[in-house]
Amino acid sequence: MPKTFDIGIDALAGASEPSVPAATFAATPENASAADSVAGAGKSFFIETFGCQMNVHDSEKVAGVLLARGYRPASNAAHADLMLYNTCSIREKAAQKVFSRLGELRGERRKIIGVLGCLAQQEGEEIFERAPWVSLVCGSASYRKLPELITQLEAGGRRVMGLDLEVDETFETEITRRDNPIRAYITIIEGCDYACSYCVVPHTRGPERSRASDSVLSEARRLADAGYTEIQLLGQTVNSYRDPSPRKLGFVELLREVASVAGIRRVRFTTSHPNDFHRDIVDAIDSTPALCDHIHLPVQSGSTRVLREMRRTYTREQYLEKISWIRSARRPISVTSDVIVGFPGETEQDFEESVTLLESVGYDGVYAFVYSPRPNTTAAAMPDAIPEAEKSRRLAILQERQRQIQLARNERLVGETFEVLVDGHNAARAQWTGRSTSNRVINFTSSHESLLGEYVQVRVTRAAPHSLIGEHMPQA
Ligand code: SF4
Repeated sequence: MPKTFDIGIDALAGASEPSVPAATFAATPENASAADSVAGAGKSFFIETFGCQMNVHDSEKVAGVLLARGYRPASNAAHADLMLYNTCSIREKAAQKVFSRLGELRGERRKIIGVLGCLAQQEGEEIFERAPWVSLVCGSASYRKLPELITQLEAGGRRVMGLDLEVDETFETEITRRDNPIRAYITIIEGCDYACSYCVVPHTRGPERSRASDSVLSEARRLADAGYTEIQLLGQTVNSYRDPSPRKLGFVELLREVASVAGIRRVRFTTSHPNDFHRDIVDAIDSTPALCDHIHLPVQSGSTRVLREMRRTYTREQYLEKISWIRSARRPISVTSDVIVGFPGETEQDFEESVTLLESVGYDGVYAFVYSPRPNTTAAAMPDAIPEAEKSRRLAILQERQRQIQLARNERLVGETFEVLVDGHNAARAQWTGRSTSNRVINFTSSHESLLGEYVQVRVTRAAPHSLIGEHMPQA
């Protein structure tokens, strides 16, 4: 496993929670020597990240851009010369949180403050109006321009912006500072060409564009050389991947090639769109042990009527057919999903169909949310908004049903033994934690003192709705 990190394994294994949030960065051997430009020499940066794994990984790459210019990571926000917020606007609460953070920096004169990501793209110049102490606003589709924008800031620029959405390139950096010593992310496709009526992503991340397969594979090989054994391929619609290079690999071919990189033991991918989910993905998982037996397949609603209003491009029946392919695989593949409750016009009958879908599929995990209207989306103007109290009632019912389903599914695993990649230690509970290839969290006891980053066999002794409890079975 990777050995040299600013944020060491120790931080993850300590008695307390890791002292660094997802927003701080660690050097990996693949990138440690590449900071050869000194434009920012002596200056420090801190990035706070909100939202999804795509954002977390974008921040790792933005940090790489800064390192290449001679900046160094600050140990905390208070000490940073350059403070960046990589934002999310998928729900209103996330956007409010960013503005509240910016409010805390009112009157701050010493720092350069920047807003990146989805909220930057969505609000644009408005951010300068609401928080005049901000100097940089840049959406993710313009990250390739970051070096140029930072040069303008260094030259004394007061308000610099990158908000271009007409892009056909992906954001690639010479350096990526990776904050997760166990699992490495690789973005293979950016943006989205779907137009779900509730979603801001096409407006904030721009059109779909895939990365050349050779570039993806060489990054995977560098990660393997650096000691990583688990890679997660990322994309808003990861399975829509289309290789723009002459090799023209499809998604499944790329999956198989990444899985065959020497040293890589686990390959995950997220998020899949049901429309582009074909049987060959299941076949690939069945025949390629390094492809993890977990698929995240967001359904959003169990009602075909609501799915049509959401512009999800599939029906309940078509979605269930895809689930039937997964269920007929030789390997038991775990399935997780996202569900929105309280979409405008969602009737009690529609909601019931979401609940019965949970039962029909038997999900191993569900991220359920109440619908939140977002600017620039067609759903925001739809009639028949559901009252907040009713949305919350539906959410509670759905979550409770899913909790019961998960508990029942997990109870069936008691007595089984799984290979676990260890990614943490809770000293207070004297427990290690890690994930199985099916992405289940397994907390376990062991007499060993150093297991982080190791693959171990764990026998499940108890089940809870969101995790399994077990004991380490050291091999003879
Ligand atoms: S597929 Fe739909 S929900 Fe997913 S990013 Fe694209 S527009 Fe948003």
